[in-house]
Amino acid sequence: MTLNSASHYTGRFAPSPTGALHAGSLVAALASWLDARAHGGQWLVRIEDADSTRCLPGMDQTILRQLAACGLHSDQPPRYQSGCSALYQQALDALIASGHAYPCGCSRRDITLALQHSGQTKVRHSELIYPGTCRAGLRGKPARAWRFRAPDQALLHWQDRRLGAQVQDVSTAVGDFILKRADGCFAYQLAVVVDDADQGITDVVRGEDLADNTARQMLLQRALGVATPRYLHTPLVLGANGEKLSKQNGALALDVGQPLTALNQAAAVLGLTAQHVAADALSHWVAQWKCLYNRAP
Ligand code: GLU
Repeated sequence: MTLNSASHYTGRFAPSPTGALHAGSLVAALASWLDARAHGGQWLVRIEDADSTRCLPGMDQTILRQLAACGLHSDQPPRYQSGCSALYQQALDALIASGHAYPCGCSRRDITLALQHSGQTKVRHSELIYPGTCRAGLRGKPARAWRFRAPDQALLHWQDRRLGAQVQDVSTAVGDFILKRADGCFAYQLAVVVDDADQGITDVVRGEDLADNTARQMLLQRALGVATPRYLHTPLVLGANGEKLSKQNGALALDVGQPLTALNQAAAVLGLTAQHVAADALSHWVAQWKCLYNRAP
């Protein structure tokens, strides 16, 4: 894999075009933009459309229009994951060659049965924790997917710029996770790590709901021999039911006719004070952001 070895700041906002931006996703967009500007760095937009089954046609353009209405413009033409499959395959091939990835022939039913058999039925975010059935070989089954071999009982420590010290044992918390699915789609974990490395991303600023992916992404970075960015996970916006606002639970699309209202709401979540002029607001917030979040990791 060719790596962009940018040593200065490069940040990104990486929306999936599965729905329009809402009040919650604007927080991550604004925070990543402010952090890039506060460091005098670049801010890139990446459209995460690797999983074509979840994408809605035209939603990339809707998101880009919403960002532009808020004054958030990518410093380079947006990158689309759908155009990067060769790069993901190259990374997967490297992981296979180094023994970090193995083929898996299990269906969901096979996994459920194996877990029931061993008395473990732990489910994580509605995903079954893979019991490692194909770790030692396919035993005649055809390969369906590719998985990452998570190191056994290894505590992975990392420092989040907002959440502080974090730790996870991927082998017990998540298990051997998918890199390429049975339908041929590359998994989010692999695509995001390859893209962050290839784009020379030095700082990932994203919603706190994604914090728990970081340990898996760090394992992949180490296995691929690429740098680990710094991480900052932003507060979530909760809906009326107390759950995280998301496209899945019907969050309203951002009203781009009222960008200042939307920006002020997002800024408040980040602990920034209300501003009265949209163009000015962004530069005021860059100064405030420097005081609030520019701590060393
Ligand atoms: N595409 C992911 C999402 O929309 C974000 C990925 C990331 O920032 O790492 O939830």
